[in-house]
Amino acid sequence: MRLRSNAIYSWPIYPLLFGLYIPLNYFTHNQALYGFSDTVRSLIIAPLLVACLCLVVWLVIRRVHFAALVTTLFTGYAVYFCYTPLVEVPVIIVAITIVWLTCRNNIGSNCSRIINVMMLAVLMQPLIAIASFKQAIQTDHVDPLGTSPFSSIRIDQPVDKATLPTIVHIVLDAYSSNATLRDIFGYDNTPFTDELTDIGFIVGQDVRTPYNQTLLAMSSIFLGEYFDSGQGPLSEKNSDQLRGTLGTMVTESVVQRKLRELDYNYLFVETGYQFLRRPSFSIPSYPGKLPDKGNPYEAGLLSLIGILPPPKESEAIKDRNENTYLRNALTTDFYLSVETPFLLYEHVLAPHPPFIIDREGEDTSQWQEFNSIKAGNAATEGKKELIEGYKQGYLEKLRYTNAALLKQTRKMISEIPGPKIIMVHGDHGSGAHLNDRDPNGPGNTCLSERYNTFLAIYSNDPIIRNRLMSLKSERFNLINLYRLIFDMYFETDIGLLKDQSFFASWKKPQQLNLLDEQQINAECSI
Ligand SMILES: [Zn+2]
Repeated sequence: MRLRSNAIYSWPIYPLLFGLYIPLNYFTHNQALYGFSDTVRSLIIAPLLVACLCLVVWLVIRRVHFAALVTTLFTGYAVYFCYTPLVEVPVIIVAITIVWLTCRNNIGSNCSRIINVMMLAVLMQPLIAIASFKQAIQTDHVDPLGTSPFSSIRIDQPVDKATLPTIVHIVLDAYSSNATLRDIFGYDNTPFTDELTDIGFIVGQDVRTPYNQTLLAMSSIFLGEYFDSGQGPLSEKNSDQLRGTLGTMVTESVVQRKLRELDYNYLFVETGYQFLRRPSFSIPSYPGKLPDKGNPYEAGLLSLIGILPPPKESEAIKDRNENTYLRNALTTDFYLSVETPFLLYEHVLAPHPPFIIDREGEDTSQWQEFNSIKAGNAATEGKKELIEGYKQGYLEKLRYTNAALLKQTRKMISEIPGPKIIMVHGDHGSGAHLNDRDPNGPGNTCLSERYNTFLAIYSNDPIIRNRLMSLKSERFNLINLYRLIFDMYFETDIGLLKDQSFFASWKKPQQLNLLDEQQINAECSI
């Protein structure tokens, strides 16, 4: 392997750089899902594999520069045709091909030098993306535009800490309103809401979500402010990075910070929803035993390049974590050993898909089409029989959730000492007739199904209960949840925002379309 030039930059190192680029690029597209430490093994093995391939080719043709070129083009071609989202690869292949054609009569150190430089420049793209993502997570972005009403308020520490209320905040993902359950699912949910009323909850009769997507809805609730299209966090063009940022805006919001100033403990129930990562300053509740899933990043990468089958489809239910997380979230009593006051936050993936649990809380494989977190038309494809399956699986999971929640909240009411407020709500309604894959708008989405949701609040303070009675008759938009809580308990004067709801497509969460009342109430063609 003798080279004309001894200069290191004339060596064809670009196949190795390309080997580094593939796992790095996959990571940058999924930074909100994986930790960088998950990538280390891949970053060593992938370049080594490319180097081995290069060596094999060199043993055959005995021309080092040519072997490097052939290996890189082959790797790029193989990856691209198994891995469509890596849109940058064809550009790299074309660029290398142009260099090759330009110096095809003399594929030597000059050619390698040019491609080395080119590949180094290419490698900068994921490196910059990783650095800027970490930056975005580290920066104080909980209130990026300074619009949150919670940022500017001042709450004095009371003389007696015991007068501060413990706050329990349980989110039931995709929980529909009773009217939706009756009209679209043919299910009478009033025995559940009546029982909640019996144990002291005030159940909202007309509850709206500000957004059709989980992270937009939840981050705006914790921000206490609506978003503007393309502004603040929504200026992030990469949708996955945006979701990661919005997730942090939920778990480390200005609300949690204000409560910490008041010496609250922060309890975080791990529910397996990857965009909501546990902040380091919280006290966690984990399910006791999770199946060992290995390195999720590597599994994702290997399935993407066709070496492993897609993880979700291939996994047996017994190896899945969702039910384990769910059972733990709705039964945990770890809060009993924590000093009050505290904020307990749990975002439960129920009755949202996957539908792999029955009403008794046992694993089921009855609804195979809904064994992943996919929702709406990403799962139903708008097909009638699949929509029917969605409704059945949803109701089964709802029945389990209802029973487990009643048990859990009863326990909380009787066992959490001192003043307390327990809030349970859906982040949005169900998605049997949701179409969020069209970037141009809600299409044939049944908006009333998605925007009308569920809210029940318990307080053991009679004055607060009295103020909450308006939920029984007036429209309540969840954007106002913490505005209301702060005004009631901390004597702030934030007030409530006008009721508004926006639609965002799954691919373009940065772009918000304001919906009017007529659109939301329009009859659904189901
Ligand atoms: Zn959701």
